[in-house]
Amino acid sequence: MASKLVDKYGRIAKKLRISVTDRCNMRCIYCMPTNNADWLDDSQVLSFNEIVRLASIFADLGIEKIRITGGEPLVRPSLENLINSISMIPGIKGIGLTTNGLLLADQVKQLSSAGLSSVNVSLDSFKEDRFKMMTGVKGVNKVISSIHNANDAGLDVKLNTVVIRGWNDDEIVDFALFARDNGFTVRFIEFMPLDGTGIWKHDLVFSKKEMIERINLNLGEIVKLHNIDNQPEPAMLYSFIDGKGILGFIPSITEPFCGNCDRARITSDGRLLTCLFENPGRDLKGIMRSGATDEVIERYIVDSMSNKPEGIIKMIKTKSLKPTLNLMHTIGG
Ligand code: SAM
Ligand code: SF4
Repeated sequence: MASKLVDKYGRIAKKLRISVTDRCNMRCIYCMPTNNADWLDDSQVLSFNEIVRLASIFADLGIEKIRITGGEPLVRPSLENLINSISMIPGIKGIGLTTNGLLLADQVKQLSSAGLSSVNVSLDSFKEDRFKMMTGVKGVNKVISSIHNANDAGLDVKLNTVVIRGWNDDEIVDFALFARDNGFTVRFIEFMPLDGTGIWKHDLVFSKKEMIERINLNLGEIVKLHNIDNQPEPAMLYSFIDGKGILGFIPSITEPFCGNCDRARITSDGRLLTCLFENPGRDLKGIMRSGATDEVIERYIVDSMSNKPEGIIKMIKTKSLKPTLNLMHTIGG
């Protein structure tokens, strides 16, 4: 079905990311505010019924893929019920989950039976002390087991690794080897100014170019892959000449994906973000809770999406990029 979600730059939205909670069992320093006691009240967070209603409306408008994120989505009880309901929405071709992996192993069977198709597990270090320094908790082995469990359960598994200069850039080669040895896809993400603590600065961004140079130097040349299904993909993909895995690079700062962006986002408190960097976004929940019909909500979404801003690329061009304190844990990445 042709998507009705087209903006003035001609970009068509086909993917929706839904944050189901702002809460998290980790405290990643590049994401969570240090003073994070102000969790949303339950009444401020979208209920499963509200999420399913919005997902159905978005599907009617042309959204084909939904990603569930957070905060940490797996801290929200009975997530499999939500996945199951979304999987029955006509037009939805895939449901993904982005998780820190701590609770994944225990839930992977239910989630997969409920209709989950893919999972992105975030992992920034293989070293327990560094993992603890970056996330605030211990558990690296648990996350690695989750990755294997999800793979064994038949889910399409990818790793997300945020690379920060001087913190974990010395582990890029270890992550590449993990991909090559296990046949996984590891996606390296440039650090974005969306951290809750305001620590972002340009010097901390370890660029895609530097990452590729480091891998080429240590493991031999990696080869760029062409986008087979012609779907816009923020990660630029590379393969090894002598291995099974795939490496993706998400150069959000040095080569932003804005021109091909095909996403919309709903925050845990029900705001529509047509762009990751939009703040505060549009009050979809308020409109829905005021008793609006599906038609009114549809018109509101179509109108909002048509006014989607150009994106981070504009801030880069105008040199206005700075820490936004636009809290990633409510948006979901
Ligand atoms: N808790 C889940 C997790 O960690 O995967 C889902 C939510 S988290 C906000 C989604 C993704 O955003 C994670 O892969 C995380 O590493 C990434 N992320 C968070 N803050 C970031 C930042 N400032 N720059 C780049 N990526 C970031
Ligand atoms: Fe939690 Fe994910 Fe943010 Fe880390 S990146 S604090 S796991 S929401």
